[in-house]
Parts: sequence; structure tokens; C-alpha cells
Amino acid sequence: MSSPLPHPSAERIVTCPACQGPSLYGPTNAWRPFCSQRCKLTDLGAWASERFGLPETMESTADMPPLHT
Ligand SMILES: [Zn+2]
Repeated sequence: MSSPLPHPSAERIVTCPACQGPSLYGPTNAWRPFCSQRCKLTDLGAWASERFGLPETMESTADMPPLHT
């Protein structure tokens, strides 16, 4: 039998829990179910802040440039 399957449909697109964008959920995405490392770290950071009440969030917010729309 010389007809290997082209793609074992193990990959699919899910919604990234951090940015609500499309995320590849499969062996090639190390950050699944997140779309990227950044989103994973962001989510873990938010979780940690919520759990432990770290003041780090306020500090990073103050460090950000003001929004001008
Ligand atoms: Zn994301």
C-alpha cells in the first residue's frame, strides 16, 4: 500500500483565548490553544495577576504611551 495520507486532520483552527483571533490547534503550534507565545504569556500573566494580585499590571500600564485616537 503506497498511498500515505496527505494530512492526518489533527490540526484545526480554534479561537485564541487571549486575543480571540484564529489559532492553529495542532502539533506544529507549541502555544496551542493560543495563537502565539505572546498570547500564552499574556494569558498566564493575567491569570497570575488575578490570583496573586501582583501590582505589576499597573506598572506596565503606566509605562505604556497614552492612547490618541
Ligand atoms: Zn492570540
